[in-house]
Amino acid sequence: MRIKQILKTKSTEQHISVKGWVRTNRDSKTNAFIAINDGSCMSNLQVFVDKEILTDQDVLHRATTGASIEVKGILVESPGKGQSVEVRAEEIIIIGDCPEDYPLQKKRHSNEFLREIGHLRGRTNTYSAVVRVRSAMSFAVHKFFQEKGFVNLHTPIITASDAEGAGEMFQVTTLPFHTFNSKAGIDYSRDFFGKKASLTVSGQLSAETYATAVGDVYTFGPTFRAENSNTTRHLAEFWMIEPEMAFCDIFGDMDLAEEFLKYILNYVLEHCAEDMEFFNKWVSKGILDQLNSVVKSDFARITYTEAIEELIKSGKKFEFPVTWGIDLASEHERFLSEEVYKRPVIVYNYPKEIKAFYMKLNDDGKTVRAMDVLAPGIGEIIGGSEREDSYDQLISRIEELGLEKEDYDWYLDLRKYGTVPHAGFGLGFERMIQYVTGMTNIRDVIPYARTPKNCNF
Ligand code: ATP
Ligand code: MN
Repeated sequence: MRIKQILKTKSTEQHISVKGWVRTNRDSKTNAFIAINDGSCMSNLQVFVDKEILTDQDVLHRATTGASIEVKGILVESPGKGQSVEVRAEEIIIIGDCPEDYPLQKKRHSNEFLREIGHLRGRTNTYSAVVRVRSAMSFAVHKFFQEKGFVNLHTPIITASDAEGAGEMFQVTTLPFHTFNSKAGIDYSRDFFGKKASLTVSGQLSAETYATAVGDVYTFGPTFRAENSNTTRHLAEFWMIEPEMAFCDIFGDMDLAEEFLKYILNYVLEHCAEDMEFFNKWVSKGILDQLNSVVKSDFARITYTEAIEELIKSGKKFEFPVTWGIDLASEHERFLSEEVYKRPVIVYNYPKEIKAFYMKLNDDGKTVRAMDVLAPGIGEIIGGSEREDSYDQLISRIEELGLEKEDYDWYLDLRKYGTVPHAGFGLGFERMIQYVTGMTNIRDVIPYARTPKNCNF
């Protein structure tokens, strides 16, 4: 039985067998208490050992912190505090010994230290909780969209489209290295795909093609950005959720984003109660109250222009000065959500100069129908927009920006043949996990973080 199941069971006095890793082993003259954990939940199972009944006393010395063991015995109501049931051991079998140099001893380790032992950190309370919550959230993402009738779309990971333009790309090539140092330039016709190819920075453009075929779609896949940004919010490899909806404008887009985020929060609060208690107590005090109140309240919604006014009005001195037209930096985003509104904020109608070419132009000719969701503690967690659905308008944006029209022929076709208003957004999955758990560094919410100069394990 898994420990999660055992701790829930009401039927004591039954024989059980349980396998896991020793967390602690308190030994006294006549008996011992071993706490074991199998990762199925945060709690350990307490094993009571009456030394007299053990035929092999050596197992107690070998059942050290980190060792893997099997315990056979009777489940009983626990006389001690802290747990409702415990196991009275009849037999202890050492599955794998754990020598003394095991790096995870009883004390609490720093996240920095644990990053260096990424292959073992999953055995700590924090990191096993993160990965369980992450798994629950992943399931909730699919559940939300499937219940709403969205089609799950697998968009390509390797792309030859430069059009995505959302960030610096990692190149994919089979050409030998010296090719790249040649003065003559690189002949991509000799490369695997016969042209330059890269890892995707967003599935959006491919999602648009299917949204204008089957209606509402969503992608949930790995995304790669070769940005050299060493922040607590950026990874080189992260997971993104991108819904795209036909017959939908920017306000429908905001409604979906808000409903979606609340659904995920509710799901985690309901299904990951024990892990969330842990985060609330040890990682981010008060996060439970905060999330519970977010679920019940409406997100703030303000235009970019109003956001700029709020920032100027505050009189606060920011590292990056505030004027109409700037791209909001994370200090501005966080100030709006943490100080001004104290909850998630949706900012919309950004200046066209700071947003992508495909976003729908407003009648003022200056702003586009972009919307970002800003979360306390993080800043932007969602970026989205209504897409330009007018063929002529899109052509003129492409020309204005000096882009090659030929590269966008297929994308323009969507506007040429039965165009529809459509909208979508991208949620960075790891940023959402940061928001939910209160973990401050994005490297700590993905099992194996990829960042500049760091690709271990
Ligand atoms: P930022 O300005 O914060 O770098 P962005 O505007 O470049 O983000 P978008 O292109 O709008 O990001 O991508 C949509 C979402 O993907 C973002 O709102 C964010 O949650 C997430 N995201 C973007 N870049 C990264 C990254 N390098 N690591 C993790 N998540 C990311
Ligand atoms: Mn963005």
